[in-house]
Amino acid sequence: MAENGKRILVIGGGMAGMTAALEAAEAGAGVVLVEKEAYLGGRVARMNQYFPKLCPPTCGLEINFRRIKNNPRIEVLTQASVEKISGRPGAYEVAVKVEPRYVTPACTLCGECAKACPAERPDEFNYGLGKTKAAYLPHAMAFPALYVIDRKACPEGCTACRDACSYRAIDLTQQPETKTFQVAAVVAATGWCPYEAGRLDLLGYGRYPDVITNVVMERLASPNGPTGGKILRPSDGKEPKSVVFVQCAGSRDENHLPYCSGVCCAASLKQATYVRAAYPDAEITIFYIDIRTPGRLEDFYNKVAGQGIRLVKGKAAKVEQDGGTGALLVIAEDVMAGRKITQRADLVVLATGIVPNTEGLPADFVRDEFGFLMNPPGRTGVYAAGCVRRPEEVSATVQDGTAAALKAFQCAVRSASHG
Ligand SMILES: Cc1cc2nc3c(=O)[nH]c(=O)nc-3n(C[C@H](O)[C@H](O)[C@H](O)COP(=O)(O)OP(=O)(O)OC[C@H]3O[C@@H](n4cnc5c(N)ncnc54)[C@H](O)[C@@H]3O)c2cc1C
Repeated sequence: MAENGKRILVIGGGMAGMTAALEAAEAGAGVVLVEKEAYLGGRVARMNQYFPKLCPPTCGLEINFRRIKNNPRIEVLTQASVEKISGRPGAYEVAVKVEPRYVTPACTLCGECAKACPAERPDEFNYGLGKTKAAYLPHAMAFPALYVIDRKACPEGCTACRDACSYRAIDLTQQPETKTFQVAAVVAATGWCPYEAGRLDLLGYGRYPDVITNVVMERLASPNGPTGGKILRPSDGKEPKSVVFVQCAGSRDENHLPYCSGVCCAASLKQATYVRAAYPDAEITIFYIDIRTPGRLEDFYNKVAGQGIRLVKGKAAKVEQDGGTGALLVIAEDVMAGRKITQRADLVVLATGIVPNTEGLPADFVRDEFGFLMNPPGRTGVYAAGCVRRPEEVSATVQDGTAAALKAFQCAVRSASHG
């Protein structure tokens, strides 16, 4: 904590926000980390593996969770959102609304509450594939490791979860609370959302259940996902024999996202390895405009491309269904051969891009023409880090989080020396 007692506020508990919080706290600052979900980890927690090493997300997340748990300088508020920020660099007052979890730290994860719970809710951790009980654990490695009660999904007056909890860890009387903090600086690390695939009219998402997005593919391949890690067609639960990845689904397109999301090529290559590992004989095709795997990701590209994956330079224009067989047909350009081709597929994966997630942030954050937050030169006090600033892979968000922590820390130190 700065000598004047002011802390640093970090909004968003994904890789960028956790890193900013940890680096600032380990340098001596007090930190309030505000996360809107009931768990930390952001989108990375929903991945099956990370490129380029293809290790599970637990690798990077667990060490951060441990560092946070062991650092008394970090106050973590989950199910929380910033309502108001006022003041100036070095002297902000922030109001944070914290929604009740209805489960206290006495929870032992026994799961009796979920067993007793009669109600269900859509499983948004799995992008709506399946349901959870209204008393649920967000996911197997959730941090904080506590159940949550979704009261909006509960039948009127129901107390089944509380009655089933022999540890008295459920308190259904909890109320929303607004907390105020004096902080010296603010780091916004609110990350990204996938581009809405339903807006890509011609690519069949929403019309054909076996046209899925890259984020859903991560969940299908994850051992803690809705299929227990089996990549199966949503329509009939069958194993796909042919999978087509459609790159730049909405990206680099004036009508959708005019920019390149930077990570989708490596993400699809990674997902092609999931398919290859599960189905050694599957036919895997990637339609791309350019493969963008800069820097050391070039090695990753070469390694994956050597696994019998067909890479076709050409944009996929349309996805249709064969009226007779019901198979999906991807109509694309093959630039190198100079012709139009139609590729049959059991499963089509749309590589949708990254949209900055600025919902709920105060309007005074500066945004660029695409909605990403900016760190304009000379501006102090408020800093953006991670994918809300620009599309980037995890290692870059960690660097970004560290850089933002340093700038915020400088602000806290300056505010202390100016009283
Ligand atoms: C399909 C796909 C696969 C990918 N695979 C890889 C990979 O294998 N390797 C790799 O290096 N990168 C990968 N990436 C990129 C990776 O997902 C990002 O680098 C990473 O998620 C960025 O972390 P972040 O903290 O900036 O954002 P996020 O992960 O989005 O975290 C942001 C956090 O902020 C919270 N939040 C949002 N709004 C608010 C608010 N108003 N108040 C409080 N909290 C809020 C969110 O709930 C979330 O917890 C992939 C991307 C895609 C699209």
